[in-house]
Amino acid sequence: MLFVSHVTNQLHPADSSALTCLNTVFGYEAFRGDQQAVIDHLIGGGDALVLMPTGGGKSLCYQIPALVRPGIGVVVTPLIALMRDQVNALRLAGVRAACINATQTSEERWQVIQRASQGDLDLLYVAPERLTRETSLDFLAGLDVALFAIDEAHCVSQWGHDFRPDYMGLGVLGERFPGVPRIALTATADPRTREEIVERLGLGHARVFLGGFDRPNIRYHVAPKDNAHKQLLAFLKGEHQGESGIVYRISRKKVEETARWLVDKGFNAFPYHAGLPGEERQLHQDRFLKEEGVVMVATIAFGLGIDKPDVRFVAHLDLPKSLEAYYQETGRAGRDGEPANAFMIYGMQDVATLGFFIDQSVAGEEQKRLERQKLSTFLGYCETIRCRRQVLLEYFDEVLAEPCGNCDTCLEPVEGWDGTREAQMALSCVYRTDQRFGVNYLVDVLRGVENDRVVSFRHHRLSTYGIGKHLGAKAWRSIFRQLVAAGFLRVDYEGHGGLKLEESCRPVLKGEKQVRLRKDPVRTRKARASGAAFDSSGKPTAWKSRNSETAFDSSESATLWERLREMRLRIAKEQEVPPYVIFHDATLREMIHHMPKSLDEMAGIPGIGAFKLKRYGEVFLKLLNLSEERAPPGRDPVKAKGDPDLSSEF
Ligand code: ADP
Ligand code: ZN
Repeated sequence: MLFVSHVTNQLHPADSSALTCLNTVFGYEAFRGDQQAVIDHLIGGGDALVLMPTGGGKSLCYQIPALVRPGIGVVVTPLIALMRDQVNALRLAGVRAACINATQTSEERWQVIQRASQGDLDLLYVAPERLTRETSLDFLAGLDVALFAIDEAHCVSQWGHDFRPDYMGLGVLGERFPGVPRIALTATADPRTREEIVERLGLGHARVFLGGFDRPNIRYHVAPKDNAHKQLLAFLKGEHQGESGIVYRISRKKVEETARWLVDKGFNAFPYHAGLPGEERQLHQDRFLKEEGVVMVATIAFGLGIDKPDVRFVAHLDLPKSLEAYYQETGRAGRDGEPANAFMIYGMQDVATLGFFIDQSVAGEEQKRLERQKLSTFLGYCETIRCRRQVLLEYFDEVLAEPCGNCDTCLEPVEGWDGTREAQMALSCVYRTDQRFGVNYLVDVLRGVENDRVVSFRHHRLSTYGIGKHLGAKAWRSIFRQLVAAGFLRVDYEGHGGLKLEESCRPVLKGEKQVRLRKDPVRTRKARASGAAFDSSGKPTAWKSRNSETAFDSSESATLWERLREMRLRIAKEQEVPPYVIFHDATLREMIHHMPKSLDEMAGIPGIGAFKLKRYGEVFLKLLNLSEERAPPGRDPVKAKGDPDLSSEF
């Protein structure tokens, strides 16, 4: 059963090609990246393993073949919320989609099963544990299955952090349904996870589509932690007023603190962590998805399967535990391809805390060693003087030839300096104080601060006492962070964050090795307040506020923008779906840009498929042409014409 007959029969009666499907059902002009190749391969009956970054457009890779091939496409995804979102979005595009999960009544499930057996569904979303039941497999064996799609396929890997035992059973699909194409999809890039997916899902012969992992629209930014809340506030006020985003914190307590603080400051913020009652968590998640401008303050418990496309920023106020985790978490920003920020601040205390967690965990020695190594790789990223995107992509075995121009080190190039002498001072200070003290204390000794503590340990008599007066405390803290990142020092987690010398520091102390250090950009008070970056002389750099790039050039456009958004929200509420499921921001912006005068012109706007055009085209067209019509005051022509009867169709 093809999409053509029920969605677009007036438009393209006989044409069922993938591209037509993309144009008419989803309203997009052209395929992105590997999409076309994957889709052709699947339509031709082949199996595929698809690795694409978050926001790369994985869903279409199986949705379109499921529509073009005869029969029903069966999609496995781990989270019910995700399932619901996808099904809702598909229905609003006119696709016959449904899901089966544990939250439904048996009556509802029965109805879905009925529709499936009558050939009345194009796509069926199922949780893995349900699909692998014998009864489900028998049922599917009696149907015409177009393909199996296994989304978030890294959940089958024990190596990763999202392991789901239920995924292990999915290997059976290949045996039970020979000849039915299978596609596994993930955004997790590392080779070990990939191997596990292939092995456990029996995809040895599948064609691998390894897309680039770059997310060019995300701007990376890492800064030393001063005052986490103040820095967050400056960032939000400067760049993200009224926008949606996620703030990650390391513990439940910190999540609560930051959420409360943001609410005090007038933000629409909610906490999310595993310690909250399930209902409350669900409520906060719903508000994040369905309202605009919500800031979610969360532990890493939040995020998997959240495919809200218009998350404009992800801020880390504490250090994530590895580059993989960081990349996955920051990847939740800007799925819609519009500019987004990944902002992180960190200090030595974070390193000590994370290291402490690793030490205290029940993991084996080998695992702990690995995690420590991941942490130090991460520090290397934080303290780099190179383009951050180049460092990130290299970690995933990808080469970016030129610096990206869209990260902090590109936008405000970091000066390097010969810090050999200072490194020697710092290292010998660690040595002379018996490798027991943390950064702040060591900085006091170096700068010759004569406080009770220093005196009580008699460290004011040391040769290193006061030899570092030429630099401020901040500069010294930066040097210590870099020495840890470079592996000359390590944080002794059991000793409450005391620094210890590593073997590799010997050549530095002996003067046989030079140390290049980074000079953290100096920020003026004004720069901090606006969230914009300034160079060391206080001049603004190329770090433009995102808002200024996307702002409308006239107040009419801005008013129109608000009107379109209001209408979208109203429809979304009636349909009980997030606003972005109706239209993306980019689609609304294109409407304003092109100001279509007819439904035909409207059809040319990206993101408006045939079904949405039919359903919402008139309403939005009216709104767009309102300003020119000069409606009499107090009369809302949209209302006057009557709303489309949305409830009856859904
Ligand atoms: P992923 O699952 O890889 O994270 P999605 O499938 O959710 O990504 O797609 C991300 C966004 O990009 C979605 O909003 C989707 O509608 C949009 N998109 C996907 N493919 C295209 C395309 N060819 N043209 C325009 N937009 C696209
Ligand atoms: Zn860069």
